[in-house]
Amino acid sequence: MAVVDYDVTANALYCPADLPSGLEGEYRDPFQDAPDETLLSDPRFHAQNVYAIAMRILARFEFALGRRVQWGCEGHQLNILPHAFAEPNAFYSRDNRSLYFGYFESFPDKQDQTHTVFSCLSHDVVAHETTHAILDGLRSRYLEPSSPDQGAFHEGLADAVALLSVFALPDVVGAALDGATGAALIDQALLEKDQLANSVLFRLADEMGQEMSGVRGCALRHSIRLSPGKDYKNDPEFQEVHKRGELLVAAMMRSFLDIWVSRLKRIGTIVDGKKDRSLVIEEGARAADHLLTMAIRAIDYCPPVDLSFSDYLSALLTVDREVVPDDRYGYREALLSNFRDFGIDPSARADIDGSWLRCDDEMIYSRTHFDSMLRDNEEVFRFVWENRKALNIGDIGYIEVQSVRPSVRIAPDGFVLRETIAEYVQVLTVTAGELRQDFKVDVPDDIEFWRSLRLLGGGTLVFDEYGQLKYQIANHLLKDRGDKRRQGDRLAYLWRQGFLDRKNDRAGYFAALHLARSGVSERAG
Ligand SMILES: [Zn+2]
Repeated sequence: MAVVDYDVTANALYCPADLPSGLEGEYRDPFQDAPDETLLSDPRFHAQNVYAIAMRILARFEFALGRRVQWGCEGHQLNILPHAFAEPNAFYSRDNRSLYFGYFESFPDKQDQTHTVFSCLSHDVVAHETTHAILDGLRSRYLEPSSPDQGAFHEGLADAVALLSVFALPDVVGAALDGATGAALIDQALLEKDQLANSVLFRLADEMGQEMSGVRGCALRHSIRLSPGKDYKNDPEFQEVHKRGELLVAAMMRSFLDIWVSRLKRIGTIVDGKKDRSLVIEEGARAADHLLTMAIRAIDYCPPVDLSFSDYLSALLTVDREVVPDDRYGYREALLSNFRDFGIDPSARADIDGSWLRCDDEMIYSRTHFDSMLRDNEEVFRFVWENRKALNIGDIGYIEVQSVRPSVRIAPDGFVLRETIAEYVQVLTVTAGELRQDFKVDVPDDIEFWRSLRLLGGGTLVFDEYGQLKYQIANHLLKDRGDKRRQGDRLAYLWRQGFLDRKNDRAGYFAALHLARSGVSERAG
């Protein structure tokens, strides 16, 4: 990553900040003792801050996945523009290989004073946008218009990573739990799930992003305050991707509380009903960190196209089953019940326990080379083609192997789990008329018969350390009635949203999305 201090509004490129290089060893933070006014106003601190948060998030992904992460854009470096424009907006642009952070005047305070707010200083905003960029590198098709869940996943994951990465800092957990009390013990009564939701989550929510509401539309606060148990998924309000993303965040954060409570059960009390406060905080930070690792690893177990929240839940359950087969900590139970509370069930294609079915079919390995399969797209294509019957890939459209990546994970017992993750995508372009007649897909009536439509199918192949196929996690093109329904629903959704009329403008996608949410398009224009 590289910080480029270019301001589009002022059309000015500022000199790079002159900060002591960290190449020779420890980096000494020149702002360690600087007063708040300096931090708020010094552009060199802005550069250091935005770089540090973005790099920390990137390092967190690389740690969880056990490999270097590629960007979704061309080149190996992503530009970060900390003072990109005078607008309450921040976004990732694949086409420009950049993260943009705007600045703007705050609302007047009681004395009618305003001040400049820099979005590059907000942890939530920087972590959120960096996650968009990293996820785009891991699953490039998720930026294409699909179901409401897929767009919402980009937003929900970005917020969940922002929140969990904050909770992984013990100081933050302590401050949110009971403030800086200085007490050594904490009452057990404060450590029940509902109590923790009211204290830890809501306290953080109130702190978060007051000034950033223009940029981020208070999504983090809303999602934490969503009460479980309603039919959100069919609520018209929750068809919009940011709103829908809140469901994922809510389910994740409540799972975090359950995991924390379950870890606390294993800590004894010191005196009657009281626990060691620092241990409680440490367990909270660990629970957040653990869930963050799971949330990131689960991306490897998601289908490459038309992702649904149910697919992601099954992926999370599979990740956990891979490293802790007996669920002795009750994490899978926590995920299942919290996602269900927000109307999200595991995928219908999953095993009885909600995680993905293991692949038991006989595959042909004799015509592919084990060694090349670990890194070569062409070799994996050969494997897919040889096994297209067993893999249920019909021969319509064309197939493209998008990526082959190694993955190394360390289980809690110290054992190393090595896997290879490959993604293939199947693309079919047909007219609406053909789709209705030849494939019996229920295409919305008002889509003209001559209109050319592009359908996607695809799967993620997970190979074990011996090169044997362990999982095929797929949303097939048009294999069965379920696929035809999915394709029909997707087309109906895209048609209603107006996506089928627009050209696929990725550069403008996040900018427009974020402006739409913050409701500042008039101000910006
Ligand atoms: Zn976003």
